[in-house]
Amino acid sequence: MKIYTNGKIHTMDEKLSVFQAFAVQDGKIADLGESRFLASRYSEAEICDLGGRTVIPGLIDSHAHTYMAADSEAERELFIPLSVRELLDDLKRRVREVPPGEWVVYLNTYPLRLDELRFPTLAELDAAAPENPVSVDGFYAAQLNTAALTLMDYSKLPSGGRAVKNSSGKLTGTLLNSYPYLCGYYPGSRAGKDAYVKTMRCYNRYGITTAIQGFSSFDEIRATQELYDKGTQTLRLRHTIKLFGEDRESLGEHIKKAAPTDPAFSRVCFIKDTIDGGFLTGTAYMEYPYRNIDSVFSITDCGDGFKGNYVTKSEQLAESIRLANKLGLQYCAHCVGSLAAKKLIEAYEFVAKAEDMSLRRHALLHADFLDYDMLSRAKKLGLTVLFQPAWHYMDAQSLPRVMLNAEIERFMPYADILVSGVNAAAGSDHMVKLDADKSVNPYNPFIGLYNMVSRRGRDGKAYGADKAIDRESALLYYTRHAASVCFDEGLIGTLEPEKRADFTVLDRDYFSCAEHEIKDILPVMTVLDGKEVYKNM
Ligand SMILES: [Zn+2]
Repeated sequence: MKIYTNGKIHTMDEKLSVFQAFAVQDGKIADLGESRFLASRYSEAEICDLGGRTVIPGLIDSHAHTYMAADSEAERELFIPLSVRELLDDLKRRVREVPPGEWVVYLNTYPLRLDELRFPTLAELDAAAPENPVSVDGFYAAQLNTAALTLMDYSKLPSGGRAVKNSSGKLTGTLLNSYPYLCGYYPGSRAGKDAYVKTMRCYNRYGITTAIQGFSSFDEIRATQELYDKGTQTLRLRHTIKLFGEDRESLGEHIKKAAPTDPAFSRVCFIKDTIDGGFLTGTAYMEYPYRNIDSVFSITDCGDGFKGNYVTKSEQLAESIRLANKLGLQYCAHCVGSLAAKKLIEAYEFVAKAEDMSLRRHALLHADFLDYDMLSRAKKLGLTVLFQPAWHYMDAQSLPRVMLNAEIERFMPYADILVSGVNAAAGSDHMVKLDADKSVNPYNPFIGLYNMVSRRGRDGKAYGADKAIDRESALLYYTRHAASVCFDEGLIGTLEPEKRADFTVLDRDYFSCAEHEIKDILPVMTVLDGKEVYKNM
């Protein structure tokens, strides 16, 4: 047994109880109380003096792409340009280093996140790289140069994928919804298990002990099992399997075959579809049309009424929801835009007429633009909203350039989510790069917490300040509420007797520090299942 004394232990239980000390045995919380009382009750126990520091439950990132992030820096540090100028300078340097014909790719680089608020043009890329194929890839849209365009076989683009043309019928170099095809050309690397271990350790450093994966392959699930067997899995994982047409028949069998041995550490929970793209590339499916789609997103052939991409139709969604019900799994769909979220809610309502699914905890994934009507319908259906504050932190400042106020006003409405009482949890949507603050998207949960209580963006300004929430409520979306997303409320999410001992010790008090300091909080120790997985105290 080990006793952690002389701290401020925020249990985040129903009463938001705070204790001075707690005892851990066999990986579980055994007792909580006053330091003196626990020390005398368990006189044999090892003692760890917390020095007055604040302890909170291990943080749960409810949407992360941990494996993809591990892949992204398996070989070298990934460069994410912050402006078109920076990108072109880097490109000129890169083409001097690589042989002609070799691809130069900028992953997760979005027009709305570049200072100039646009993609580089075909002409700019051609001037910088005349002999190397180049892709500036924003996942749901990419900007290529001429050397890349000449390699394309447009008949092979996935459904919803297409090349944009200008008014005289010439290709502009912008490809929409073509990532699955394009990535076949990219010089890629499969990270392997060492990179997974490294990435999990990065999460531990920021207090994260559980991450719900946005997408896991069966190979990745099996690789994680090997790490578990070796004792090097330092993150609880909940998996999401993406639905591809051909798998549907045998999906249940595949999931059973890949089932990890310890469901507390690794388990398949969700199956998933994708309904639309993302608002950083003008492809999220919105109720109101985008503004400036030609100048910002290089979408020059859709006219003024363009509302984004809608790639998975309602009948397909309903079929997937029924499949999840049949297999006893949870269902979620990527729906970033307001209209995509509405389509998904409608599909749930349609299926709910014939099948009771109020206790299944299906989810709306992203749902970045929500109004009160959508939230109350989601609550009635027993759905969970999985939102990512990092998007508000990064992008609230750029939205006026591309959206009407009617959409901006319902961007990440934390206060409305809270008042509606809908199940919800916060996450990062971390995809690439391992630096917690410079990654896309930043997975540092203290940035997310800071944004939820202040509504401040990366420029320091507050956007929609009336939608801010209090510190306790914000933290619940990373702890107790996040645990319930995958039915883990009996296991993690609070520090109560019999729960697993997942917790993190902070360098300053989240509950009383100055608001602007929340984003600078750094854990000094993180414990998973009773074992230290990070320590710097
Ligand atoms: Zn995602």
